Amino acid sequence: MRMERRRFLKLSAASVGALMLAPAAGALRLPERLARAPKTWYQGDVSTVLTTCGNCFWACGVRAYVEGGRVWKVDGGEANPFSRGRLCARGQGSVAQTYDPDRLKRPLIRVEGSQRGDGRYREASWDEALGVVASGMLAIKDSYGSESVAFFGHGGGASWFGDYLAAAWATPNVGDPSAALCTSPRETASQWTFGRAIGGHEPVDWANADYVVLLGHHIGEDTHNSQLQDFSLARKRGAKLVVVDPRFSVAASKADRWLPIKPGTDTALLLAWLHVLVTENRYDAAYLAAHAVGLDELAAHVRPFSPEWAGPITDLDPADIRAVARELAAHAPRAVLPPGRHTVWYGNDTQRLRALFLVNALLGNYGVEGGFYLAQAPSVADYPHPDFPLVPASGGCSAAAERAAPSARVTAIRSITANHRQSVDTGRFFADTTAIQELIPAMITGEPYRIAGLIDYGTNLFHSIPDVARTKQALQALDLYVAIDVLPMDHVMWADVILPEATYLERYDDLLEIAHRSPVIELRQPAVEPMWDSKPGWWIARELGLRLGLERYFAWPDIESYLDTRLRAIGSSLEQAKGLGTLQQAGRPYLADWEKDGPSPFGTPSGKIELYSRTFADAGFDPLPRYEPPKEPPEGYYRLLYGRSPVHTFARTQNNWVLMEMHGGNAVWLNASEARRLGLRSGDYVWLENEQRVREGPVAVFATERLRFDCVYLVHGFGHRSPNMRIANGRGASDTALMSRYRLDPISGGAGMHVTFVRLVPGAPRPRLPRLARLARRKA
Ligand code: SF4
Repeated sequence: MRMERRRFLKLSAASVGALMLAPAAGALRLPERLARAPKTWYQGDVSTVLTTCGNCFWACGVRAYVEGGRVWKVDGGEANPFSRGRLCARGQGSVAQTYDPDRLKRPLIRVEGSQRGDGRYREASWDEALGVVASGMLAIKDSYGSESVAFFGHGGGASWFGDYLAAAWATPNVGDPSAALCTSPRETASQWTFGRAIGGHEPVDWANADYVVLLGHHIGEDTHNSQLQDFSLARKRGAKLVVVDPRFSVAASKADRWLPIKPGTDTALLLAWLHVLVTENRYDAAYLAAHAVGLDELAAHVRPFSPEWAGPITDLDPADIRAVARELAAHAPRAVLPPGRHTVWYGNDTQRLRALFLVNALLGNYGVEGGFYLAQAPSVADYPHPDFPLVPASGGCSAAAERAAPSARVTAIRSITANHRQSVDTGRFFADTTAIQELIPAMITGEPYRIAGLIDYGTNLFHSIPDVARTKQALQALDLYVAIDVLPMDHVMWADVILPEATYLERYDDLLEIAHRSPVIELRQPAVEPMWDSKPGWWIARELGLRLGLERYFAWPDIESYLDTRLRAIGSSLEQAKGLGTLQQAGRPYLADWEKDGPSPFGTPSGKIELYSRTFADAGFDPLPRYEPPKEPPEGYYRLLYGRSPVHTFARTQNNWVLMEMHGGNAVWLNASEARRLGLRSGDYVWLENEQRVREGPVAVFATERLRFDCVYLVHGFGHRSPNMRIANGRGASDTALMSRYRLDPISGGAGMHVTFVRLVPGAPRPRLPRLARLARRKA
């Protein structure tokens, strides 16, 4: 392009003028340039706040760095036993959640005339939204009784709703996915074997263990900060590691021995190990004589279950089975089989966990260094309140629970478990005796009585409870469905009223009381004010309580006085807790710390470890574990297995751009020979289809030698469909969407979820999705 000389001169003069007004940065010396550069946050007036990470239940201590009313960075609290100065990737990424522009910003009410699931909402004031919720709950109470409102809860603030508001409101129908969809088999088995719950933090004495056997335990992929630190230190110290898993997991890649077991046959393997320990007299006879009952019955029971019997069942070499049993015995009592956390697999899971605990018991490791320490919950009194009404208007609390449960017998066992926890552990009321998935049918059928209302706090209904179609049908049948959450998750956008919660960096929660070798009390306090018009869970629960006529249970004027009162009752104060973040009480982690003639550490009916369970026999269950063969996949189908990503928490973090940059979607793992047989290669896209013709995907194939030929594997948490979650939407496939059925564990109420079979349907299109880098620049 030609430019006239006159115009060029004009432009040049203007440019020189501009340069003279603002000299080029390059013309300045370095100190001057630095002085003129915009300040970064750490050059400002930075304050630090000690709080507790809310990105998973592990509750690591956090030091949050705040400048200009914004959190810029978080580090691990140094004095906290679960972080020890470090955070995992999810903890580090939690700042991005607070500043996620897709967050729920104001209360929303579903537009009149719209259907649940349409996603059509109008903004409302808190007063209007809470008024709608309260009047809906009161109408249900008038028509059906207070027990017809269920509370589901998951996460840091869930206690305000599931433990507190639900108890004041008087409903037994409180569901917690971390019980029946995760830990209930191990908790029930531990309770009835050792008389003690496992609790949130597995009390494995990694620091002193010399030999560790993991069965389907995905440590390293299922990342819990100090547990992973301890595991790594144990390996560094030279502890031997055996991993039993159909998949060559991250833990298997660190192991001395990997046993690629056939899925669903773990109980046979455990029975064979019991057989070797008993028949070769390799158990700790002195320990069992002092602390256990039922050895004779166990010995007679396991006599037929040799490694040669278990070999063809498990697809393992009997010589390997025998060798591991002998190595376990050689390292006892510093040999341990941790129970893992996600234990709902095949529907006979309490018995599998019983078998696992019996192996531990024969090694004499429970309450002994290198095995399991005795975790104790802290002792902190409630804020003074009138007794909660345990008897709803239309019947007793347990009677109502029985009517909501699949059978009276099931509730009987689970209720007894809760009672034992109450007496042995904390003395507090536990409300997790109802299996969350068993409340869904009552919403549809009205049997045994109607559940007409659901208050959901943070439970990702469509990514946690199997049979999503049934859950959607249930939500359609409700009179009232309220979602309290931080993000517009798939299930949230079905609610009648959506109440936006503040993130953990913006709110107080109730004290976190954690059973540990030295009981731990942690404070979660706000580092910054809540963004937009979001509110903390405690405020939402209290405001609802006041509108429901339950003000006598919410007598505290504000959250600071509530927490200060509770802390002063144990000789501390809110001021002190704010400065320390974490308080610890004295514990008695080993049997040697317990007085011989004092109360027994074993909260079983006999006061000893129960190898044979009379309680199970009386309830009609096997008093000793038996192997039940799993159903085989039909021709052309694979068993669907699933696991965790180390940088994601369940399905809650897939809209976090920092974490999604590290792991932005899942792929379906398929054995490499099977992939060749099907003409598939890594990177090809397929649909996954279950036996009921439910399709999920498209999802990429990952052809690998790291998995057996009879199963496929997905990382859980992906496959979100809410368009309001602009990063999560459409990335990967949901394992839960494919679980059209589950198998109920009749003892614990757990939903066995390794019973889904899927086939791979080729020819799925590669999804066209916006790049993450572009989405990271989203505007609110
Ligand atoms: S393990 Fe990670 S996500 Fe969980 S509390 Fe600790 S830092 Fe947070």
